[in-house]
Amino acid sequence: MLNKKSVEDLQVNGKKVLVRVDFNVPLDENKNVTDDNRIVGALPTIKYLVDNNAKVILCSHLGRPKGEFNEKYSLKPVVKRLAELLGKEVKMADDVIGDSAKKLAAELKDGEVLVLENVRFHKEETDNDREFSKELASMADLYVNDAFGTAHRAHASTAGVAEFLPSACGYLIKKEIDIMGKALSNPARPFVTILGGAKVSDKIGVITNLIEKVDALVIGGGMAYTFSKAMGGKIGDSICEDDKLELAKELIKKAEEKGVKLLLPVDNICADAFSNDANILVAAAGEIPDGYQGLDIGEKTIELFENTLKDAKTIIWNGPMGVFEFPNFANGTKAVAKIVADADAVTIIGGGDSAAAVEQLGFADKMTHISTGGGASLEFLEGKVLPGIDVLNDK
Ligand code: AMP
Repeated sequence: MLNKKSVEDLQVNGKKVLVRVDFNVPLDENKNVTDDNRIVGALPTIKYLVDNNAKVILCSHLGRPKGEFNEKYSLKPVVKRLAELLGKEVKMADDVIGDSAKKLAAELKDGEVLVLENVRFHKEETDNDREFSKELASMADLYVNDAFGTAHRAHASTAGVAEFLPSACGYLIKKEIDIMGKALSNPARPFVTILGGAKVSDKIGVITNLIEKVDALVIGGGMAYTFSKAMGGKIGDSICEDDKLELAKELIKKAEEKGVKLLLPVDNICADAFSNDANILVAAAGEIPDGYQGLDIGEKTIELFENTLKDAKTIIWNGPMGVFEFPNFANGTKAVAKIVADADAVTIIGGGDSAAAVEQLGFADKMTHISTGGGASLEFLEGKVLPGIDVLNDK
């Protein structure tokens, strides 16, 4: 379990609290927030601080403005949405550590909320510049990190600033770590992990860490073809990392030695081009003809996966089962989303594409937890220490 101080362990009454949140949300062309999950995710911490008479200073990045001011990446649209969700006025500074931010921070009254401009308007943020961290810290008495989505980055506002202020984690980070931490350290069994997505190389760390812990490992998506080729199968033009064939063989052997059930696709929906409108055929695993590439898992594979998943008590899923962006190749990802949603298990969805798929399909409420951080949750599942959490004060 997380051994860091939480926001409840701090004396926040009347204090200025700098909170790093992850408000990196998508905007449409009219600057409306199109998915406010990350803002909603930060509300428990913000509300707790408001209710306990803190002066709340929120800090976040949005997009990649490359270290300079750019109106396109302003946090203004986020402030508007946050004010609606909180049902109260939210102040907004024109800058991050400039006159506007410092003046508004100094004038804050108990229970008021201020948002600083996009912290990545300064390149010192991603450089984790010590002076910049000090300036940020100078506006507050306490620091709370609740930005799980950037907790795997050692930046000024996610890590550097903790050197200068008493610190703690917010409710979102606590929830993410508690749920995923329990699944890794003391899972209800059978414990099954489903991995998909384009490349094996992105998931090596996760496979290596989880193979020690799971009862079954289900592999779909593009990465399955590297395994298929490693076993001597014909994969046609399917995506494959030839420099990872040996690794795939080692992982297959390791699973065998550990008694971990390794489930790979037994049939594939194949296309004669990387296109939604390509000609389609169904091929058994290892028998994909030249000129065709596997873009989704087939019905037999879905059935095979379901047989193992239906009895699981803990499921962690990261990565789509096929090129789900093409409607004709989204069936496998949809089917797995439904199977996980229906399972009588603790169900955890790593962020990114699988989280988006689950939300689009309307299964979000049926999952135990959908992580708000793709990269951060992957690194956590790899067993890595996340710098933005490591720097916080211990209990
Ligand atoms: P990742 O970010 O590693 O989870 O990978 C997600 C991407 O993998 C998505 O954009 C999918 O389109 C892609 N993907 C999944 N299956 C395949 C496949 N069979 N061939 C090519 N790309 C795939």
